[in-house]
Amino acid sequence: MTTLYIVVPCYNEQEVLPETSKRFLAKLKALIDGGKITDSSRILFVNDGSKDKTWDLIAQYHEQDCHFSGLKLSRNRGHQNALLAGLMTAKEHADCVVSLDADLQDDINAVDEMLAKFEEGCDIVYGVRSSRAKDTFFKRTTAVGFYKFMRALGANVLENHADYRLMSKRSLDALAEFSEVNLFLRGMVPLVGFKFATVSYVREERFAGESKYPLKKMLSFAFDGITSFSVKPLSIITSIGFIVFVVSILAAVYALVTFILGHAVSGWTSTIISLWFLGGVQLICLGVVGQYIGKIYNEVKRRPRYIIEDFLNQ
Ligand code: UDP
Ligand code: MG
Repeated sequence: MTTLYIVVPCYNEQEVLPETSKRFLAKLKALIDGGKITDSSRILFVNDGSKDKTWDLIAQYHEQDCHFSGLKLSRNRGHQNALLAGLMTAKEHADCVVSLDADLQDDINAVDEMLAKFEEGCDIVYGVRSSRAKDTFFKRTTAVGFYKFMRALGANVLENHADYRLMSKRSLDALAEFSEVNLFLRGMVPLVGFKFATVSYVREERFAGESKYPLKKMLSFAFDGITSFSVKPLSIITSIGFIVFVVSILAAVYALVTFILGHAVSGWTSTIISLWFLGGVQLICLGVVGQYIGKIYNEVKRRPRYIIEDFLNQ
């Protein structure tokens, strides 16, 4: 029989945890009673340096029922790092691990189908949301644009899949070989390979509390995803350089011809506009190149991606 660990990263989730723990435990118990998973299966809450009572709640749940485990990171490291910490810890105790958010947006009932696919021999089962009707219009359109853009840039990401997925122990062992510091798990997991399947579910609204991904974080996450998986922005810069160069030659020819014809292009306006335009283009390009250098800088330092302060597991 399978031992399942459900990994749930939590950052300031005290409003949702009481409900989340209740629903997840009911699911786990149903699976255990149904003979689908072993009694050593656990729900592993990862406390990502929360400032509220999240960790106290997790410790309390663990006291009350041994099916709850808790992992405490030494400080806030962000969703992706917290998730990785949970996955890497869980894989030492489980045959397969399901990851999902604490806010009840991901429907826990999809786990049944994920487990069935796992039993059929799939190593990775992706949860794909069947509709985004519950998301805000803004989130929906930006997400569609993001996936299109990612694919155009050659990065292989599954559309409408967040981090709700099942992974087998051996696929997690393979994931552990990826040592990058800039984590973008939904881009990394497909690189692992193995047999995979998808399961669709309806994504709900956040149960309570606020999204921990405000626009600024979302944009930097998207940009991180792109620069982690594609160097196409660099070739785009080269193309921009060529285009500007060709345009400037045409402008030079035009200026020369009018000069020869006797009416020189006069002007402060044209000079200033082209100066500023080119300055802007150059700064943007320099910024993109800088982003890559910044990434290299972060990667070469090889700092730990997370530090574990406490692990409650029985
Ligand atoms: N999260 C985390 N660390 C952070 C931010 C978020 O562990 O620094 C967790 C959060 O508790 C939740 C999940 O990541 O379980 C997804 O966050 P959220 O629901 O706020 O993002 P959204 O669904 O709005 O994209
Ligand atoms: Mg959420």
